[in-house]
Amino acid sequence: MAGVIYRVSGPVVTVQGLQDPKMYDVVRVGDQGLIGEIIKLDKDMAIVQVYEDTNGLRPGEKVENTGAPLSVELGPGLIGSIYDGIQRPLDKIRATSGDFIAKGVSADPLDRKKKWNFKPTVENGAEVKGGDIIGEVEETSLIKHRVLVPPTVSGKISGLAAGSYTIEDTIAKVGDDEIRLSQKWPVRVARPVVDKMMLDAPLITGQRVIDTFFPVAKGGTAAVPGPFGSGKTIIQHQLAKWSDADVIVYCGAGERGNEMTEVLTTFPELKDPKTGKPLMDRTVLIANTSNMPVAAREASIYTSITIAEYYRDMGYSVALMADSTSRWAEALREISGRLEEMPGEEGYPAYLGRKIAEFYERAGKVHTLGGTVGSVTAIGAVSPPGGDTSEPVSQNTLRVTRVFWALDASLANSRHFPSINWLNSYSLYVDDLSKWYADNVGKEWHALYQEAMKTLQKEAEINEVVQLVGYDALPEADKLTLDTAKMIREDYLQQSAFDEVDTYTTLRKQHLMLNAIMELAEEGGKALKKGVTAEQLSSLGVKDKIARMKYAKEGEIDAYSKEVDREIAAIGGMEAAQAK
Ligand code: ADP
Repeated sequence: MAGVIYRVSGPVVTVQGLQDPKMYDVVRVGDQGLIGEIIKLDKDMAIVQVYEDTNGLRPGEKVENTGAPLSVELGPGLIGSIYDGIQRPLDKIRATSGDFIAKGVSADPLDRKKKWNFKPTVENGAEVKGGDIIGEVEETSLIKHRVLVPPTVSGKISGLAAGSYTIEDTIAKVGDDEIRLSQKWPVRVARPVVDKMMLDAPLITGQRVIDTFFPVAKGGTAAVPGPFGSGKTIIQHQLAKWSDADVIVYCGAGERGNEMTEVLTTFPELKDPKTGKPLMDRTVLIANTSNMPVAAREASIYTSITIAEYYRDMGYSVALMADSTSRWAEALREISGRLEEMPGEEGYPAYLGRKIAEFYERAGKVHTLGGTVGSVTAIGAVSPPGGDTSEPVSQNTLRVTRVFWALDASLANSRHFPSINWLNSYSLYVDDLSKWYADNVGKEWHALYQEAMKTLQKEAEINEVVQLVGYDALPEADKLTLDTAKMIREDYLQQSAFDEVDTYTTLRKQHLMLNAIMELAEEGGKALKKGVTAEQLSSLGVKDKIARMKYAKEGEIDAYSKEVDREIAAIGGMEAAQAK
């Protein structure tokens, strides 16, 4: 027996007499069969959040319970797809309903007809358990899709197939369970793992300010606030393009309609710079345009992280970018308001902090059930109104994420890109990663970057003094510090996303570049003691060479760096001339 609609309040619908309702069951609401999810049970009433526009819905219309929780379909074909918040493929629902999405449309998340070439990697009779890899299909030019035993299934494998199959065909049996190329998983439940591991390697991005000063670990969490025009989109593109994750899941909820459109039109055109293949060959996009209802936005973040976990379970490193989590929190707030819950700070529900924490807790580097190692790195953008990060979403996010890239509108205005403010940003992974950097970049790396950071902090202090006494009154050593800090900012931190060479810097080159600047500072410091002035140092030709180092190609960088080192060493000779 179907339930009936008792009350409609925006996206929240109260339903009476629903058969056997359970929390998070998916229901079809009204004559049009809108998709919704039970979010609260109250005596004989079920409170449902509806993922589609509820305009025109009336009390008395019927509601059916599907009896299943909101789930995603996981299998080959995910990569390269563009979905809405409840995993409906945007191209298909658009095609059937024009630009606006018709109500109650259901479309299969994965192609039912497409055949995939399945190659088993186990033998009939083998004992397998949940999460084990039993074979693979070539999903895209970049990703081999490893076929996993669903987490809850185990036993002896039989009837193993090989060859061309659709995602619905049975390709093996484990005990009595039929195994297919696809499986389902409820989005609100984290996929199980053996255990979480220590984070000990960085997600390498080729972006100097990130890799050098504020690295995020593979499996770690980062927050990035993005005031309008601060270069948030470009940063995200750079991360999607260059970071050394195997798979990218990008979840976008645009505040302005065109913002998401930009992602939807630009991403499919981007190329993976390392292979020249389309970037979509390792990317899944989840998009909420502004005309989609709030509840779908609330679900999108779970849909995204579940897909990310699935590829993690195959042993891949996955980077999930959620842009922006503020839009998601606003959806929570709106729904909470409709439920007439007791509001917390700024009208957000009191459980906002817990929800945010639960999301980021699904990131991590893990031993998978199948015996491999995989990771999900979660990078969440926040868009605080007016750029003020004292508001609840930013604060609750900063409490749980371990990296903060403070995009700064004033830096962007002065064309300093990426506009990550070096004084406000931080990474709490620096210590965890120091061994990795020492082993892979150089033992002196830690001291080098700390010295550079100290110079930048010192610059800020000296600038305050300059305001009081003027530049000329500064000690020579302080003038040198200002020069060095300027070099760090302009020749190192500033990095053009649009320059063919500068757009990506290997860690090795980062090391050489930073080393040159700090060597110059050190030799300069010695020269000052022998009577050379900061002004003389400032006019040295080697400074221009260092400034152009960022444009030196990989094949040229060693020779270039040697030349710079020679010129820095020659500063000693300058002292001698001075002393005569
Ligand atoms: P937002 O998404 O925050 O509104 P965008 O990412 O679109 O801002 O950046 C605005 C503009 O800033 C870009 O069109 C580009 O000209 C410039 N910009 C941002 N980041 C960089 C970068 N890393 N290198 C060069 N230019 C950049």
